[in-house]
Amino acid sequence: MYDVLIIGGGVIGCSMAHELAKYQLKIILLEKGLDVCEATSMANSAIVHSGYDPLPNTLHATLNVEGNKMMDQVCHDLDVEFQRIGSLTLAFNDEEVATLNDLIKRGQQNGVPVELWDKEKILKEEPCINNGVKKALFAPTCGIVNPFELTIALMENAMDNGAELALNHEVTKIKKVKDHFEVTCANKKVFEAKIVVNAAGLFSGKIAEMIGNKDIVIRPRKGEYYVLDHFEAPFIHHTLFPCPTNKGKGVLVTPTTHGNYLVGPSSEYTFDAGDVATDSNDLAIIKTKANAMVNNIPFNQMIRVFAGDRAVPQTASGDFIVEEDKNNPNFYHAAGIQSPGLASSLAIANRLRELMEKHNKFSLNKNYVPTRRPLIRLNKKSIEERQKLIAKNPKLGKIICRCEIVSEGEIVDIIHRNCGATTIKGVKKRVRPGFGKCQGGFCEALVLHILARELHQDLLDIDYGAPGSYILLKKTKEEGEH
Ligand SMILES: Cc1cc2nc3c(=O)[nH]c(=O)nc-3n(C[C@H](O)[C@H](O)[C@H](O)COP(=O)(O)OP(=O)(O)OC[C@H]3O[C@@H](n4cnc5c(N)ncnc54)[C@H](O)[C@@H]3O)c2cc1C
Repeated sequence: MYDVLIIGGGVIGCSMAHELAKYQLKIILLEKGLDVCEATSMANSAIVHSGYDPLPNTLHATLNVEGNKMMDQVCHDLDVEFQRIGSLTLAFNDEEVATLNDLIKRGQQNGVPVELWDKEKILKEEPCINNGVKKALFAPTCGIVNPFELTIALMENAMDNGAELALNHEVTKIKKVKDHFEVTCANKKVFEAKIVVNAAGLFSGKIAEMIGNKDIVIRPRKGEYYVLDHFEAPFIHHTLFPCPTNKGKGVLVTPTTHGNYLVGPSSEYTFDAGDVATDSNDLAIIKTKANAMVNNIPFNQMIRVFAGDRAVPQTASGDFIVEEDKNNPNFYHAAGIQSPGLASSLAIANRLRELMEKHNKFSLNKNYVPTRRPLIRLNKKSIEERQKLIAKNPKLGKIICRCEIVSEGEIVDIIHRNCGATTIKGVKKRVRPGFGKCQGGFCEALVLHILARELHQDLLDIDYGAPGSYILLKKTKEEGEH
């Protein structure tokens, strides 16, 4: 019997596992994919919003601001890339200036530091911004984080502290039995747990339905992006937002923690949760909107496009649903976690743990270790440092991905950690082969071989990402044939 069973390995489920691992609890996280961070947490703007924007006294506002403050310590402890680069929200006409003034008041109510910049200051700090700009709201606490690294590191740390992870376990049925829950998966395995957390993202409504709660209805709203390559000199330094409207935050331009740039997202409802197809018309609209805000965006350096789906709750407020189920004590929902869910993730986990402690007594895990063994990060090291590392581990001298400078030694390291990679995409999310200009054209086959060797699996059995997404379908020659 588990004390806590978490459904969903996105940033919310993994934050929950990380938070609860601080206590003496037997924890398991069930994820239907072959890795954590496979859905919305993998495809977003990667911004740790400052929290000036959400309406005061909503969960969006309080948990965003709390979560933003928690990010430094956790990212430091878990060796996750996080940079407080600040954001600029830009006004190009008087109406937008009036909106910025309202947002400044809202930011102050939410306890977020905000400043109003004039045109001269804006263009001095960000010369690429369109000359028609009038004012900007500067939010210095806005940051950028690597969302894959954060989600994976949270789960790795939870596992280092005793939590269990079951991948390829899709929850299909939940039954309340006296004082606990019986959770059944598509593979027929059954788990018993005293407390269950629904962190199933786009499918959190479906999980709620499994215990008879039909009130949580989620609709997916797609956001599409361009990814630009990294350049020697950065072309912008802050996250740049247009003035928000009632349709959302609009098309932004932002650096990522790896020096790439994101331009997007679009915002259209889609019928199919998990539909991440991109559309050339939507992308063209994004380009037009971004070009109206920032001059000379190097779209010729575009290396890919992608999309993610927001889990939009069909409620009047659209606020996060972070609560205990009304009819099932000890069943908790973290549902409808759309933006700013990444920024709020640590605070959402904290809030749910507090709710659990209202009628459960948790004792601290005395052996809890808050830190994670740092990643090797060869491409951040000097030549001398690299030479020393290679002398100890020659696999670090064999470069597998030339675009992002990733060695075999780093790939082997992240396969054998807790919450290690088992798929090609899993390796890509952890140490970046395939994220560069060639998009895996050169390194993917090498990664496939390393995974098969290290996991003692046949080459044919290695998935790209989702279950059954094999790269190699059959052998054309038997061993020894030429
Ligand atoms: C376009 C876009 C831009 C965004 N930008 C930002 C931003 O800049 N900043 C910010 O703060 N937020 C942003 N967000 C929001 C943020 O990405 C989400 O709030 C966050 O990732 C939600 O995490 P999650 O864990 O709830 O969901 P997910 O990451 O979707 O995780 C849910 C997991 O549950 C699993 N699952 C589902 N059903 C089952 C089942 N039956 N059994 C087992 N497992 C199951 C899924 O496979 C998935 O891995 C953005 C979102 C989008 C789409």
